[in-house]
Amino acid sequence: MTPEEFIKREQEIQEAVKAYPGREMGEAYRLWKAVRGEKAITLKTGDKAVEVAKNALKVATKTPCIQPGCDGEMELESVCGGCVEGRAGYKSKRTCGKCLFRELSKKDYLECLRELSTTA
Ligand SMILES: [Zn+2]
Repeated sequence: MTPEEFIKREQEIQEAVKAYPGREMGEAYRLWKAVRGEKAITLKTGDKAVEVAKNALKVATKTPCIQPGCDGEMELESVCGGCVEGRAGYKSKRTCGKCLFRELSKKDYLECLRELSTTA
């Protein structure tokens, strides 16, 4: 499994949950795939390929801080719809672990991840 495949699956799950509200996540995903004539991808816990993909993404979410004079790392995080940033229309943010400088983005967290993993 490549990081792109992992993100694609995550995005499909998000879509599925929206399409079938009230269903259990795994069930919604299976239904969503079945409607499209595709097979749901099951991830086994401890699967090496999955761990490798996850780790690659984790590394990709860390970028050097853009504040002058700071040598910290900024980490990409998703913003929840219910919190202050989410209500203002933001979907993801990067926060520096050292100076706590924050950069908000209206791009979806998974979208950012996909960009990062394809450019990395
Ligand atoms: Zn910083």
